[in-house]
Amino acid sequence: MMIAMIGLACTQPERVSVPAPVPEPELRPPASRRSKSPPRTAVARVRTVELGRSVSGKPIEMHIFGDAPRPAFIFGGIHGSEPTSAYVARKLVEYLHEHPEAYAGTYIAVLPAANPDGLKARTRRNARGVDLNRNFPARNWKRSRPTSASFGGSKAASEPETVVIMRAVRMLRPSCIVSIHSIARGKHCNNFDGPARTVAARMARENGYPVQPTMGYPTPGSFGSWAGVDQEIPTITLELPRDAPGPQAWKENQAALLAVLEAGTNRLAR
Ligand SMILES: [Zn+2]
Repeated sequence: MMIAMIGLACTQPERVSVPAPVPEPELRPPASRRSKSPPRTAVARVRTVELGRSVSGKPIEMHIFGDAPRPAFIFGGIHGSEPTSAYVARKLVEYLHEHPEAYAGTYIAVLPAANPDGLKARTRRNARGVDLNRNFPARNWKRSRPTSASFGGSKAASEPETVVIMRAVRMLRPSCIVSIHSIARGKHCNNFDGPARTVAARMARENGYPVQPTMGYPTPGSFGSWAGVDQEIPTITLELPRDAPGPQAWKENQAALLAVLEAGTNRLAR
C-alpha cells in the first residue's frame, strides 16, 4: 500500500480550481492498530507551511504529516469565539508529532487556527467583522447585513482567511475534510455535507456524538456548502460541546479524528 503513495504529496498545481468529486471513503481501522513499525519515509515527511496571513497580518499555518496522494484535511478556529476547536486541532498536531505511527501510510494536513484575529479577540468574526464560515463562494452565498453576527462579507471570498482555507483545499485536493467548531451542549454533533455520512458515522462510533445531515438552520456561504455540497468533497463539521474544557474535548475526539485520517486515505489503497 505504501509504495504507490510515496512522493506524490501536496504538489497539486494551483490551477486546479475545483477538485473532482470523490466517492465516499472506505473505512478501515486506524493505522496504529494495523502497523507496528511505520516506514521512515512517513516520519521524514513532516512540514509546516504558512499559507497566508489574517487581516491583521498574523500567519496562518498548516502542518502536514505523511505522504500519500490525497490527504485528510482538518482545521479549527474559524470562529474565534470557539477556542476549543483550535485547542483540539493543536493537540492533534502535537499528537502526530509524537506518534508518527498514527499517520504511517496516510497523509494528513492540520490547520489549527483559521481565524487568528478572532481567536485573539474571542470574537466569532474576523477583524473586519465578517463571519468567515459564511464567506465562502458557495452557490448559496448571499448578501447579509453587516450588523449580523453571521455577516458573510461584502462579497464571497472577500476575506484573506477565507482565501487561505480555499488555497489549502485547492493545494491538497483532500479526500476528506473536518472543520472543527463548538456549540451549546445538546446540539454537539458530527454534522456532514456531501458524501460524508459514512465518515460521520465512523466518527460517531468514537466520540459518541449524533450524526446530523443538517444543523437545522440555513448556512449560506459556509465552508460545508462550498466544499461538501458544491464540490462533493466529504466534509464533516465537528461541533464540540462548548462547555467541554479543551483537554476533555481532545480526549473525546482523538480517536474520531484519527479515524478520519484513515477514512480519508484508505479509499486510495483499493
Ligand atoms: Zn462555529
